[in-house]
Amino acid sequence: MGEPDRYGVVGYPIKHSRSPFIHRHFASASAQRLAYSAYEVVPADFSAWVKDFFAAGGRGLNVTVPHKEAALTVADHLSDRAREAGAVNTLACRPDGSVFGDNTDGAGWIADLTIRDVELRGRDVLILGAGGATRGILAPLMAQRPARIIIANRHLERARALVDRFARAAATSGTTLETMALQALADPDGAAKSSVDLLVQATSVGLEGGTPAVSNSLISVRTVACDLAYGAAADPFCRWARTAGAAQVFDGTGMLIEQAAESFRLWRGLRPDTRALRKELIG
Ligand code: NAP
Repeated sequence: MGEPDRYGVVGYPIKHSRSPFIHRHFASASAQRLAYSAYEVVPADFSAWVKDFFAAGGRGLNVTVPHKEAALTVADHLSDRAREAGAVNTLACRPDGSVFGDNTDGAGWIADLTIRDVELRGRDVLILGAGGATRGILAPLMAQRPARIIIANRHLERARALVDRFARAAATSGTTLETMALQALADPDGAAKSSVDLLVQATSVGLEGGTPAVSNSLISVRTVACDLAYGAAADPFCRWARTAGAAQVFDGTGMLIEQAAESFRLWRGLRPDTRALRKELIG
């Protein structure tokens, strides 16, 4: 029968990663014979390590923090969405031996919102944070034609750079794309006066146990609030949003599962059914 095809996730650190559990579940549920491991690789070794992995017969890799941008330069070819996002989260070995780089984070997030029946067309969206995660979700989000997206960030220039980068996509989708200082959202009589349809927590503040200091007035009974982080890192924001009275509150577990399913499809040619895993990890 030979050795199973080899896949894995590479990051630094990597111990917390749920990707091995998710992909092994997909493999057994879809009767695919493969091995999937977690690899901890320091940034200085990343490019050489990836080349060695594929030269030794590896078939595909998920790429996570802090290597997503470095993975852009390791790939021989890039998908449009990886180029748009400026980051790669999935590498796949092609039949000719070349390495293809893709980004499935945004598609995974939209798939999760779709499963949860979150309507985006014509809606008002506020994103807290302007880092890599926000960059990855912006193009797929605009493809759903929301009326307005505001990107609020601690360092305003980073949000402005995203507006410049995605100006053409915004014009195509008819979405108004704006920026705001995150600090301005603490004032219930100021920028945070009215509530939004979708509030997205995309900062990394949760990793330090906190949540952005924004006013409760951003939330009303029509607001869907979601954190892109998952597990303990999403707890402070989700707790705050529930207390503030949001209609629906969830973390990034669904995004994680659905982006993994998109990676699995790229590697194996079939998209695994995510329902059983969603039930197990989300409830
Ligand atoms: P990143 O590129 O490092 O960006 C971090 C963002 O957080 C920036 O906007 C930064 O603002 C902001 N920030 C950090 N500390 C802050 C503070 N004390 N106060 C206010 N803002 C602060 O990180 P990322 O890659 O975008 O990741 C963001 C989150 O998304 C992480 O929790 C990550 O786990 C999650 N994520 C989840 C998935 C999934 O599949 N569920 C996928 C990707 C990412 P400044 O620019 O002002 O510094």
